Amino acid sequence: MKRFTQHMMEDNRIIRGRDAQRMIVDTAWEMAEAVRATLGPRGMDMMLVDRMGNKVLTNDGATILKALETRDPIASIIAEVAKSQEQNAFDGTTTCIIIMGELLRRADELIGRGVHPNAIIRGYRIGLDQALEAAAAASIEKEPYEAGVAAATTAITGKSAEDFVEVLADLCARAAMIAKPSEIKLLSIPGNSKDAHLVEGLVVMKSPMTQGMPTKAEGPILLMESELGPPQAQININDPEKIQQIVEMQTKYMQEIMERIKENGIKTIFCQRGVDSRAAQWLRKEGILAFKNIKRSDMMRLSVATEGHIISDPADINKEDLGYGVAEVHDSVNDYVSIRGAETNAASIIMPAPTEQSAEEFQRALEDAVGVAYLCVQEPLVVKGAGTIQAQMYNAMIKQTPDDTVNSKVEAARLAFAEALLVIPQTLAESAGMDIMDVSVRMRADPNLGVNVHLMELMPMNVFEPLAVVRSALTSAVENGVSLLRTHSIIMAKPIQEIFASAEK
Ligand code: ADP
Ligand code: MG
Repeated sequence: MKRFTQHMMEDNRIIRGRDAQRMIVDTAWEMAEAVRATLGPRGMDMMLVDRMGNKVLTNDGATILKALETRDPIASIIAEVAKSQEQNAFDGTTTCIIIMGELLRRADELIGRGVHPNAIIRGYRIGLDQALEAAAAASIEKEPYEAGVAAATTAITGKSAEDFVEVLADLCARAAMIAKPSEIKLLSIPGNSKDAHLVEGLVVMKSPMTQGMPTKAEGPILLMESELGPPQAQININDPEKIQQIVEMQTKYMQEIMERIKENGIKTIFCQRGVDSRAAQWLRKEGILAFKNIKRSDMMRLSVATEGHIISDPADINKEDLGYGVAEVHDSVNDYVSIRGAETNAASIIMPAPTEQSAEEFQRALEDAVGVAYLCVQEPLVVKGAGTIQAQMYNAMIKQTPDDTVNSKVEAARLAFAEALLVIPQTLAESAGMDIMDVSVRMRADPNLGVNVHLMELMPMNVFEPLAVVRSALTSAVENGVSLLRTHSIIMAKPIQEIFASAEK
């Protein structure tokens, strides 16, 4: 045992008790500070410069936290929290990290006043239950589409896509009614953003293989992995008779394949590789719509959407492997084809943008917007944002009288939790240059107010967020904050460089 401890001390650094707690709280607080300025539509951008000197401007909490992650173990845990919030709820990452930082800061104060972490954890858990109950009670039920539009509108506001918010929020909500976010593809093309539109089904950015093919086809769909053409002879042959023989064999082979395609009533072909030019002409004459050089990822999505298997050998064409659907060619700046299977569970938003940079920004804004719209379609309950929901939760919690069994330290932690919620309206007010004290006092008195960051005033605001985002951000702030509070010791392995340095001495 002694040898084990000695070994631990040599190679690792052990930080215990209060020191460990301070280190955790400080890191969480610093990371919350780093993203505070980006909260809300008046939030500032941050410039991130990586080791290679690449610069990115962003006000996305998760992106900033990823950059701060470095090699600090605590910082990487906090960055993980942000990532999982984004994966679960598509939004609310900055909110989650700011609230977690605030909860830990207040916990640290309570610990300093002699409150045991366990009492704090108990108080925070009670607080979480009460706050979630209050949020559910304050939520507003809408029609799924309306809820989706409302949430998407909030997500797009404050970003560069804001100028087209009406068109885009409608597209996001309609897409979310059809498909899961993972099945909604956002396609940027050069053009005017007001022409954005929704296509039901998948979209592949390809024109038909040759002119003269039909522009719409319904029926069996062939998905081919290999080249659609005769097998290539590799040997060097000079004998004209042999060459003639090979050409005949190839022609016969192709005829068989084409016969198979016809027999199976195939109407559309997507080929991952090339297609022989004679084959292409034959397909055109037969009125078959065909596309070549399709990306592997698109082939996979086509397979899911049309319920067809990707075939690797043209000789294997058979009914069981074919997909089914409607393929339609649309002409725009870049031609594209839309494909709808028997059940439409995919959608594509075609998003024209004037520059590459704006295309990227629109893409990011739409990803969030589609995500929150989807949450709303699944559970059409929204709450009022702009700080209102946090003031409502605070107010409901303050009105609760503690029951006799709860001790005063737990109660102190519950009240600290309620206060911590107000950090959101305070931060929004701060970003707009408003007086924080004044905002806090007035929002406590009237929980229906929200922060109008443009007019720099408190007033009832029609900014809606999915209840699911608020619930997820708060739950994850508390659960992760609690597990950090529970951490009593940190054992840090000596960085590898230090081990090498001492070995060299
Ligand atoms: P997060 O990563 O937490 O989603 P955001 O930067 O998107 O961070 O900011 C979200 C906060 O901004 C929420 O509290 C939301 O209610 C608020 N908000 C969004 N739109 C508005 C608006 N138009 N006016 C005031 N507050 C807004
Ligand atoms: Mg957001």
